[in-house]
Amino acid sequence: MAVSEADFRARARKALDDDNLQAALAQAKGGFVDKRADAILDLPAFEQLRERGRQIKDHTLEYLDTYLDEFEQNLNSAGGQLHYAADAESAREAVLRICREAHARQIIKAKTMAGEEVGLNEALEAEFETVESDLGEYIIQLAKEPPSHIIAPAVHKTRGEITELFDTHHHGRSGGPLRETPDLVNEARGVLREKFLGADIGISGANFLVADTGTITLVTNEGNADLSTSLPRVHIAIAGVEKLVPSMQEASSMLRLLARSATGQQITAYTTFITGARREDELDGPEELHVVLIDNGRSRMLGNDYREMLRCIRCGACMNHCPVYSAIGGHAYGWVYPGPMGAVLTPMFRGLDKSSDLPQACTLNGRCQTVCPVKIRLPHLIRQLRDDAFEQQITPATTRWGIRGWAWLARRPRLYTAVTGLAQRLMSRLGRGSVRRAPLAGAWTAGRDLPLPGRGGTFQQQWQARQRSGQDG
Ligand code: SF4
Repeated sequence: MAVSEADFRARARKALDDDNLQAALAQAKGGFVDKRADAILDLPAFEQLRERGRQIKDHTLEYLDTYLDEFEQNLNSAGGQLHYAADAESAREAVLRICREAHARQIIKAKTMAGEEVGLNEALEAEFETVESDLGEYIIQLAKEPPSHIIAPAVHKTRGEITELFDTHHHGRSGGPLRETPDLVNEARGVLREKFLGADIGISGANFLVADTGTITLVTNEGNADLSTSLPRVHIAIAGVEKLVPSMQEASSMLRLLARSATGQQITAYTTFITGARREDELDGPEELHVVLIDNGRSRMLGNDYREMLRCIRCGACMNHCPVYSAIGGHAYGWVYPGPMGAVLTPMFRGLDKSSDLPQACTLNGRCQTVCPVKIRLPHLIRQLRDDAFEQQITPATTRWGIRGWAWLARRPRLYTAVTGLAQRLMSRLGRGSVRRAPLAGAWTAGRDLPLPGRGGTFQQQWQARQRSGQDG
């Protein structure tokens, strides 16, 4: 999927005006947040677990080449094959080649954000009958839309919209008026069951890749990944290189963090460990197992200021706690990774010049960092991206000159005090209340009123007066 051409502000405005989207977001609001909070209360050692998660990811990234070799050897020993893809195009090519060589006709897919990242769906759908098996992904596939959340891809859809989609695409299978959620789930299950049985190829992502056993770890709450990976004769897993962990011990720590942070569960309903293709004495499982490991800019991140972003385990907690994401949903971010993690990852993968609005879509309130299970300093990285945009002259010239002027003034305290004092006096003469339009503050007054200062002086003057009168505030 390409980054949308329309700029972030236009997409955000459209999202704010979309009544259906606002209704769906209001319904989802709080669900993930409350469940995560409860799950963490149940585990007093959660902060230690977060620190362990950070250490595991940093250690693995430090020795990534060693763990990559180890994973490949163990995958091969278990009967699997590794395909290394330097970029999105080679990842798509690797998957298409495997499908063609297997003479595939039907493909069943479990959710994979790495697949979304490399535009796998469009490439597959052009050649093969391809069906998503995760319920949320299935809904947005019918709607021909990208996901709007990394763990709840159809969170932007209301029940009414889903009913309409099913009525259109299921050819009256259940038909009729607005249906309850369990009825919609059963209807999708019936349709998908036939697709599972008819598929030649199953494609999944990977939550973790265990180096010392060559194991793929997958979590779902629907069990669809298990059917997608065990019924078809070929299984292809696609994942970023940062999904590696040294051993099962580290994988189990990460699984505990992931379930609690993503959905507020102690453990995800289906946690699957896949080691190799079907062996001679086994009754089920695929005849072939392929792992397509994607770099797509990750090696570059290993060596730059954004390396810690490679710790991300795609739990979605940062977006669930983000006031900007909560107001506009995921599509406004223009690419597959929304919210605070997307504000960093999209510029990394697509280029800062194509996504410079995303780091601005942040109030720097810090909640994302507080909830991140691997302690990624998201506000720090977002601020760093703003600096980079300034240095690389991506930030508009007027903004850059404004910031430069402010910095010049702020380094001269006496002049700063005199200028702000004068501005305060002039503005306070305009009256009380607020102004609707102000020169140089058009972006502010377009959306809200600008309060006029009172006659009590600037903050500094008021503070000094309080100090003198013995009040400590
Ligand atoms: S940045 Fe942290 S909180 Fe956000 S998805 Fe990644 S791991 Fe989860």
